[in-house]
Amino acid sequence: MKPVKHVIALDVGGTGMKAALIAEDGTLLHEARRATGRERGPEAVVETILGFAADLLAYGREHLGRTASAAGVAVPGIVDAERGTAVYAANLGWRDVPMRELLGARLGGIPVALGHDVRTGGLAEGRIGAGRDADRFLFVPLGTGIAGAIGLAGRIEAGAHGYAGEIGHIVVRPGGPACGCGQHGCLETLASAAAVSRAWAAASGDPDADAAHCAKAVESGDARAREVWLAAIDALADGLVTAITLLDPRTVIIGGGLAEAGETLFTPLRTAVGERVTFQRLPEIVPAALGDTAGCLGAGLLAWDLLATEVPA
Ligand SMILES: [Zn+2]
Repeated sequence: MKPVKHVIALDVGGTGMKAALIAEDGTLLHEARRATGRERGPEAVVETILGFAADLLAYGREHLGRTASAAGVAVPGIVDAERGTAVYAANLGWRDVPMRELLGARLGGIPVALGHDVRTGGLAEGRIGAGRDADRFLFVPLGTGIAGAIGLAGRIEAGAHGYAGEIGHIVVRPGGPACGCGQHGCLETLASAAAVSRAWAAASGDPDADAAHCAKAVESGDARAREVWLAAIDALADGLVTAITLLDPRTVIIGGGLAEAGETLFTPLRTAVGERVTFQRLPEIVPAALGDTAGCLGAGLLAWDLLATEVPA
């Protein structure tokens, strides 16, 4: 068999990890999933990741005729990509884990790129997903929380301290609901999938009702559901207009659980944003295309980018 050049792509979430071996043209040569085992503590999670990566390296040797040329890893929380350190991740209990160094050592010294999960997913959406080759875009996944990634000329802006793009913590309702970040009235407390689930559970009286149920009820003409839904969309439009005013993106890519509502979300959202802008140019507002594989595909892009910029020895 002719050896196939490839990289390891690994996306670490709170509970599960997605991995792939990816060829230079983007072909997925192998895919795998594994639990992080976070109930066993932060050190055990690091060891699980290192073991998973080593197994992926071995898979390449056995099935693809050679080991991976580089690895890209996306992790949650605060990431210092330049130092290759996972600075802080509340859901994994991490503080200052030198992930790039640990992975490099375990993988026999191949180059390793470390990225922030949402920024890495945004890189994939911008380059090969919904924003395909968009020069300036904003990626906003609406999930348990709301995060963001600012795409600029083929890369993602991380900010001076790794906090850029945190649109979920723009205060859109001063004095509003308390947020985990310590502020009140953050966008994330009003327009995340979790926030819509909470609001619809309260309004409908069904504790198990969630955001997807709310969207369904909106589609069937339920007035209470419509009220809950439009309140979230108003908050989201307020947050997006702040971001649009600062960044002037060409494309806004909306992902996460709430985006699965399709035009039930996008039609009123485009209207709400359009009603708010005055001098700002309206960006295209489009659904994400890569779903929950964005982080893993983006990790692969980080790895290939690393090889492309490496100075030959
Ligand atoms: Zn907040």
